[in-house]
Amino acid sequence: MSFTHIMADAGELPCQSAPQLFFESDGKDDPDAISTAARFKMAKALCNDCPVRMQCLSYAIQNNIQHGVWGQTTPLEREYIRKA
Ligand code: SF4
Repeated sequence: MSFTHIMADAGELPCQSAPQLFFESDGKDDPDAISTAARFKMAKALCNDCPVRMQCLSYAIQNNIQHGVWGQTTPLEREYIRKA
């Protein structure tokens, strides 16, 4: 089963309620923007309750996704996992 199907079967996922937390933004046009590090910290907290967290992480590692929070990891954390 593909990760897309796994996500669909899981119903509403935490990242779907706040997608703006899960990806990098330079915030240049938004005076209220918070840092990427702060947003990633909040995103990772939301992942904690996700029923497909391990599948999400596996998908991101296998597909070498180098942006955003996936499976409660940042791009740098996934790079460390890939190199381990
Ligand atoms: S683990 Fe993946 S699918 Fe689940 S909330 Fe986090 S980013 Fe979304």
